[in-house]
Amino acid sequence: MSAEERQLRLPVDHHVHTPLCGHAEGAPRAYVVAADGLAGIGFSDHLPYLEPAKADPALAMSWDELPVYLDGIQRLKGKSATPVLLGIEADYFPGQETRLEAVLAALPLDYVCGAIHWVGDWPFDDSRHLRRYEGADVTALYRDYYRLVAEMARAGLFDLWAHPDLPKKFGYSPEETVRDAEDEALAAVAAARMVLEVNTSGLRKPVGEIYPSLELLRRARALGIPITFGSDAHAPYEVGHEFERAVAQAKEAGYRTYVTFLRRERITVPLP
Ligand code: ZN
Ligand code: FE
Ligand code: FE
Ligand code: ZN
Repeated sequence: MSAEERQLRLPVDHHVHTPLCGHAEGAPRAYVVAADGLAGIGFSDHLPYLEPAKADPALAMSWDELPVYLDGIQRLKGKSATPVLLGIEADYFPGQETRLEAVLAALPLDYVCGAIHWVGDWPFDDSRHLRRYEGADVTALYRDYYRLVAEMARAGLFDLWAHPDLPKKFGYSPEETVRDAEDEALAAVAAARMVLEVNTSGLRKPVGEIYPSLELLRRARALGIPITFGSDAHAPYEVGHEFERAVAQAKEAGYRTYVTFLRRERITVPLP
């Protein structure tokens, strides 16, 4: 696809899963077919957990499956008119930086999505643990989340910050402002030259909003943080979900371009 053609299309969808993670459906080929009309599709299935105690076939592929994932997606490259990228969604846990760096360095990736899905021992975006919100200190959850994001950025191992305000997923808001914690996270992301993901999966969740909110996106823009786009599709029909709306929100926040990746280098593309 020429650069001119790419910038006329809806953005590359950089956040797409495969059935290897245990909670997605549809062959990778079907996701690529569903991306027809987009500027490209990037797979970013869940990296296995480094900590064996966290291994859960319903959350992430196993280490044995990782080469299957990498080979499977690489074989799809160049087989369709839609460009295919190979990424991964990696959880950040404090203390695992050295091991994660070694694992990532050995993989032929176009980009690495950094995600926080756990605060302490709480997988707060896992609907199987929804009851834990009852009586929980939601303000503390948000603060701890943004502190972990800042640490994740400082680790310097990730290209983008996936689903930026994920704690809002089930509709629980902090009781007091967490602006200071958000600002710390944004500043760390800017300093690390990371990219922020505009992720439409929140529209399919109880919160009914894009991650991040327009307000957070405006502050990211003010700090010069570039953006990328992702649907977090766990089924082919979710590929590129609500991307017109995501582009409109990005423009409303002042963005004119987005970023895509090739072998962990950035390519800046004008918004359609
Ligand atoms: Zn998933
Ligand atoms: Fe995630
Ligand atoms: Fe995801
Ligand atoms: Zn995700």
